[in-house]
Amino acid sequence: MKHSIPVEQCGHHGAAMAAAVQACVHCGFCLPTCPTYQVMGEEMDSPRGRITLMKQVLEGKQPLETALPHVDACLGCLSCETACPSGVQYRDLISPFRAWAEPQRERPRMERMRRWMLMNVLPYRWRMAVAVRLGLMARPFREVLPKALGPMFDLLPRRLPKREVLRDLYEAKGERRARVALLTGCSQQVLAPEINAATIRVLQSQGVEVVVPRRQECCGALAWHVGDEARAVKSAKANVAAFPTDVDAILTNAAGCGSTLHEYPLIMGDEAKAFAAKVQDVAQFLDALGFRVPDKERKVTVVMQDACHLLHGQRVQSAPRRLLAKFPGVTIREVADPELCCGSAGSYNLEHPEVAAELGRRKAETLLAAKADVCVTGNIGCLMQLRFHLGVRLRVTHTMVLVDEYLRDLG
Ligand code: SF4
Ligand code: SF4
Repeated sequence: MKHSIPVEQCGHHGAAMAAAVQACVHCGFCLPTCPTYQVMGEEMDSPRGRITLMKQVLEGKQPLETALPHVDACLGCLSCETACPSGVQYRDLISPFRAWAEPQRERPRMERMRRWMLMNVLPYRWRMAVAVRLGLMARPFREVLPKALGPMFDLLPRRLPKREVLRDLYEAKGERRARVALLTGCSQQVLAPEINAATIRVLQSQGVEVVVPRRQECCGALAWHVGDEARAVKSAKANVAAFPTDVDAILTNAAGCGSTLHEYPLIMGDEAKAFAAKVQDVAQFLDALGFRVPDKERKVTVVMQDACHLLHGQRVQSAPRRLLAKFPGVTIREVADPELCCGSAGSYNLEHPEVAAELGRRKAETLLAAKADVCVTGNIGCLMQLRFHLGVRLRVTHTMVLVDEYLRDLG
């Protein structure tokens, strides 16, 4: 698209935003794969519509306020990137635009409070644990509490899992084949600590030594996706400093975190390039390493729910399937709408509960139609969202938890 964006006046992401706008040829191939376009049916809530809106705002031809509702409603799922034949890097536009717009906008008081809560609670484990405990205590009284708290209650687990403290180092079983560092995530370690425990056991079983850097912190995804650039930069710098350089890979088991770690060079600059080059999803890493499984059979049918930030954000699709397919007796089924987001998308289901709930309902139906025994996904946010919408109708777990169960059952 031809543009007249004054790049120098648009901050340090001006050139990246302009390049993304320029690459768009307005073809509309991305529209059918955009979850918000599917639910809302408006051009302005499609990738093409949003790109045009952001372009016009950056050019000074449209007031920011008119574009914000549509920019805010974007899930950041990056499905449009996968669908785009012109290679538009939508991620180079949406988060930088939000960061550029944030200082210029006036948010209502309630919204400011909610954002403050999100930014100051979710990324910190002990605060998150306290908040979950308080939420569980308050949940029976939700009818008399403000309606705005409803989505938060919906996503709470049935109970707070037992706190697990991870060691700094886990040795490889048998001959050491690799040494990695693991990002353990912030809310994941509070809401589902079994995911990191399973990931570490699986890695150890494959001859991988696992370092858990003590000074690591939240990856910064939450801040980056809602335009809080200063916080995102702070998290990126802290993690780049905290992770050792003498490892073969930096692993994540949460798709949203992994995608953000890959974006560190965009967030904090070229000094993060070496760090980002080492980042891999754990399934991708194990697949490349050569995954070894016991030669025994356990029959199970698995339906895959690709997390958007794995499928679109990191283009990892076949590795978790290849991993599971190695187990004798595993049948893998696919959902009818694999490219579509489940509606989780970080804090999206707290900020846009209606759209998130509609997407969650739709995804639950397509997953059930696959008639599987278990649904696996590679992201804590998707896991919580799917568990809420599927309830007891289908078990939902993390890919690494299922792999760990298999190895322990068959080993
Ligand atoms: S990131 Fe997702 S929700 Fe946003 S425009 Fe692209 S496809 Fe639509
Ligand atoms: S598919 Fe790509 S080029 Fe076509 S409208 Fe969407 S973003 Fe633009």
